[in-house]
Amino acid sequence: MTGYADDGVGLEVVVDPWLEGLWKAIKEALSKMASDQTAHLKGVLEDSAKETPDLSLLDVQLNLLSLTDDQNCGSVKSTVGTDSKNAPAASSSVSAIQTAVSDRRPASPAGGVGMSSESGYVARISASAAETQTRDTGGSHVLLEGSLTCSLPPLSESSLNVPALPPPYLDVSLEDVVSVGQIDGPLNKETLHEVPLSRAVQLTRQDSVKITLLLELDISAYPEIVYQPGDSFDVFCPNNASEVDKMLHRLGLEDKKNHCVRVSLKKDTKKKGAHVPPYIPQNISLIYLLTWCLEIRSVPKKAFLRALVEHTGDGVQRRRLQELCSKQGAADYNQYVRDPSLSILELLTAFPSCSPPLTLLIEHLPKLQSRPYSAASSHLRHPGKLHFVFNVVQLAACSGRPAGSRGLCTGWLFDLINPSLVFPRKAESSSSPALPKIYMSLRANCSFRPPADLSVPFVMVGPGTGVAPFIGFLQQREKERQENPEAGFGETWLFFGCRHRDRDYLFREELEGFESNGTLSHLKVCFSRDDQEEGTTLAVRPRYVQHNLLLHSQRITDILLKQNGYLYVCGDAKNMAKDVNDTLLEMIKTEIQVDQLEAMKRLAKLREEKRYLQDIWG
Ligand code: FAD
Repeated sequence: MTGYADDGVGLEVVVDPWLEGLWKAIKEALSKMASDQTAHLKGVLEDSAKETPDLSLLDVQLNLLSLTDDQNCGSVKSTVGTDSKNAPAASSSVSAIQTAVSDRRPASPAGGVGMSSESGYVARISASAAETQTRDTGGSHVLLEGSLTCSLPPLSESSLNVPALPPPYLDVSLEDVVSVGQIDGPLNKETLHEVPLSRAVQLTRQDSVKITLLLELDISAYPEIVYQPGDSFDVFCPNNASEVDKMLHRLGLEDKKNHCVRVSLKKDTKKKGAHVPPYIPQNISLIYLLTWCLEIRSVPKKAFLRALVEHTGDGVQRRRLQELCSKQGAADYNQYVRDPSLSILELLTAFPSCSPPLTLLIEHLPKLQSRPYSAASSHLRHPGKLHFVFNVVQLAACSGRPAGSRGLCTGWLFDLINPSLVFPRKAESSSSPALPKIYMSLRANCSFRPPADLSVPFVMVGPGTGVAPFIGFLQQREKERQENPEAGFGETWLFFGCRHRDRDYLFREELEGFESNGTLSHLKVCFSRDDQEEGTTLAVRPRYVQHNLLLHSQRITDILLKQNGYLYVCGDAKNMAKDVNDTLLEMIKTEIQVDQLEAMKRLAKLREEKRYLQDIWG
């Protein structure tokens, strides 16, 4: 049985249910083995009453079954040795450790981790700082709510399985040297392009829920930046300056921010394959490290929480951190940490007695990542320019983030161009102030391209900012039509969706123009939040792109299955892409009268032939 987990999504989301299934499967397999062997032995005994059966085999099965039973009921009588020296070494999979070994040592009376911190074991912790669900206030009961910092029964009263303490592996020191590099800008900036922003337009109305911006990059000075519609490029942005300051303050290192950071591998580390992270160069200052190297917004993994426990003074806060990284606290971790994308800084603010050393941050924070964006223009229409479109991501307020916040890169871009948001400011005008510049690099996406054969029909599905690459596709197609008026062009369909016709219909003028001049054969737009008239159904007023696809089921399946056409999907990976995929399956089932399995095969074949292409994010 093989399981794949994506650390980006969260290991526990995949690994925990997989492990549940694993124990069940092992139990079933062992039961079957035991009954097969019993039957076999019975047969042997019957065949040869003189021979002595090997009954130890049966004993082994029974012991193993008692281990799996323990796992299920949560009371540990593990047959795995309690001698720490013989225990399996800590692995990177938190869940695997939790279910593999248990320490039978008595829990510490203070509710602390009842184990030696280097043991590589999972400890069982008794609940001592348990919050109660109701508090007696002189006759009346007040209901307490759970939060990032406060748990409720049964978790607050539960014994916990926490992951093994990750072994430290770095030595970090700060040196007050004059020669520290005064570099600014992203790592390896010599391999990137520093490009001016020449235009910024807000595409949504002021009263729209989302702010969607179109930015234009002036790439005319960089002939090496050659892009095609469908390509995307990386934007390199720094961490938020005020968050960096807060982090320095929290670490008590404000006065050392210009000191040089020396990082080396701990000589006696027990971490397997340990190495100094390659994204931490030599001779950089502490402020540079926090601004350009580490993703200080990243969501702390459970192993990081586990390590933070060791640096937390207050007993209640320690207990809560233990809960959040424990097997029993998985739902709380998802609810209060993972789902709201809580950053380490927000976590440290909520747990004031937690004071980790800088070393721990360097060991646990990942590299600051660039953010990719899809080109929303064709160079044929806008020579020397590259457009892109994005929503300013708004992270909702939550327990641990009372004021909410903006996405790192989209918030930074917004600040960069605000307050003169809708400009064109003329780049060539000498009187205008210097245009802001951003670091970027092109990443080619060779398969997400319009069909090379102009006569082949294609279908584009891109609600919201997912329409970005298709604007590029259509600008290119428009130009090709002008240059080849005699050529036979395949049909083009665009399924677009937004909330309100009058507030956030992106590129409305341009799209309607494409339709009226024949570049786009069919423009199908739906509005998910415009009031539905009384009695109207989705068949009359489709709400989402997939409803519109269903309305044109026969034409679209014909294009895909009979005319060798292409289908492109761009935008939100979480819901839209899956809904569209499910709808395509339904359409194939209905139109060519096949069952689910056959429809899945047809869709898989389209993918293999690179005629069903996705460019999805979120
Ligand atoms: P972060 O600070 O990284 O986000 C914080 C958290 O917000 C994330 O952990 C996540 O949980 C959540 N989040 C991330 N994105 C969204 C979102 N869109 N809506 C709601 N919550 C979100 N984005 C575009 O807007 N336009 C594009 O053309 C585009 N093209 C892309 C092409 C590719 C190949 C990929 C992989 C991604 C693309 N993205 C695009 C997404 C983009 O790279 C960023 O992820 C997005 O802009 C958020 O970045 P941020 O730094 O502002 O948010």
